[in-house]
Amino acid sequence: MNYGKVYLVGAGPGDSGLITVRAVELIKAADCVIYDGLVNPALLRYAPPATELISVRKRTGPKPCNQQAINELIVEKARKGKTVVRLKGGDPGMFGRAHEEAAQCADAGISFEIIPGITAGLGAADYCGIFLSDRKHTSQVMFVTGHEAAGKEGSNIDFQFLAKFTGSIVFYMGVGGLGEIAANLIAGGKAADTPTAVIANATLPTQRLVKAPLNRIADECDEQQVKAPAIIMIGQAAESDERFNWFMSQPLFGQTIVVTRDECGNAAFADKILARGGNVVQFDLIQIQDLTGRVEVKQVLGVLDDYDWIIFTSVNGVRATFGALGKMGKDARCFAQANIACIGSATAACLEGFGIKADFVPDVYTSGELAKQLAESTALENKKIALLRSAAAPKDLADALTKSGAGVEDVGVYTVEPCQNEPTDLIGQIEAGKIGWVTFTSPSTVNAFFTHIQPELIGRCKVKVASIGPVTSEQLEKLGVKVNAQAQPHTIDGLIDALIKESE
Ligand code: SAH
Repeated sequence: MNYGKVYLVGAGPGDSGLITVRAVELIKAADCVIYDGLVNPALLRYAPPATELISVRKRTGPKPCNQQAINELIVEKARKGKTVVRLKGGDPGMFGRAHEEAAQCADAGISFEIIPGITAGLGAADYCGIFLSDRKHTSQVMFVTGHEAAGKEGSNIDFQFLAKFTGSIVFYMGVGGLGEIAANLIAGGKAADTPTAVIANATLPTQRLVKAPLNRIADECDEQQVKAPAIIMIGQAAESDERFNWFMSQPLFGQTIVVTRDECGNAAFADKILARGGNVVQFDLIQIQDLTGRVEVKQVLGVLDDYDWIIFTSVNGVRATFGALGKMGKDARCFAQANIACIGSATAACLEGFGIKADFVPDVYTSGELAKQLAESTALENKKIALLRSAAAPKDLADALTKSGAGVEDVGVYTVEPCQNEPTDLIGQIEAGKIGWVTFTSPSTVNAFFTHIQPELIGRCKVKVASIGPVTSEQLEKLGVKVNAQAQPHTIDGLIDALIKESE
């Protein structure tokens, strides 16, 4: 059998957007991804379902791995003909032991490539607005490890030299020995008041920045309980101007926000929160179950021409409908005769993706307003209406349209079911005061959430609650949950704006 190839790939410093296009391409084509503890797990979603994913956390995790075991694992997989992506935090060559892994491949006659990544020191500097080099004051930058290679006698770091170095010094793996590093530098002659910055969890929503003079930085970090992974920056650059700290100035930075939709909806919502600096806890509460295989659904989808109005009340309804039409060998032309109404802008945008422009969208995105405004804008008397929506939706929309004289076919093209996710971890985080907001986008997510979690826990732990609109808020209030913010308009973007407004 031919040997597979090994790719030593940099995953970037943390933020899942800070990975190269080449790295993503390789993960997509990998048979096996062997990844470090510092790699953002979100990057593993690029791997195809059949790809073997192996975690090789060094010091923590269920099975701590040593470097030799990792080297051997890489070679073993490649010998079986597999394409191996060895995904490493930051850049593979920067204090990443890529040298040893490459040597093992070379010795075994296995070919490899090395794909650069953004190293944590640079990610941390840019995400704090610290400019490590500067035309006027700082012409030199040094990267140093604060952790000596195992088995080495004495220190390999020339503190005398570093003490005289006038540029920016960036220490990796140094936070545990910060006091010693500072003392050695000061003993070597570095000014005790040299500006120093420590950045933990750089480029992630949990990023922390502590600044102090060199002689006080260790105490300051102790007090603030700064933990690894962290980067230490020493030198004039570390003083930095707070105006440049763009990442930590984002509107949702420092807020931990729980999203409670289905997996796909949560991922889209999470991306929007992350883009505003928020920290997301993704709790998939519901799953979408397609019902378009049912005979009664197929019958309606087969005669869409017969209807005067077809109404969609969610993106899921649009997706389920078009999925089913595709299977039936049909397409958007089925809607040529009917008028189309959507409950809101997201549903209308999804429909447009399938080539159909909605004829009617109310200016307030609720089912009540949809029924009212549609009846005001057109005569519904004796009109045939198909509602293609969730089987679990309340009946009031159908009832209101019927009252306007229309013949309504309420078709459940999908339904939502609770997921079997246990929120043990989430309850712990709520009790520890770590959760700022829980968000709800439908009454079904409210019901699913509060079958797991006592409503009183939310109030007791001062967790704030945000709702997408009045129907969802009503459901929350029925359970005795206070709604702190309600979206206006009733969309995900409106919900995010409400969170930002309440967080100011
Ligand atoms: N190859 C990696 C470095 C591996 S050594 C790179 O290029 O970034 C591990 C050290 O990197 C940690 O001890 C810490 O000093 C630093 N580090 C990695 N990720 C970090 C992060 N998100 N925030 C702060 N420091 C980080």
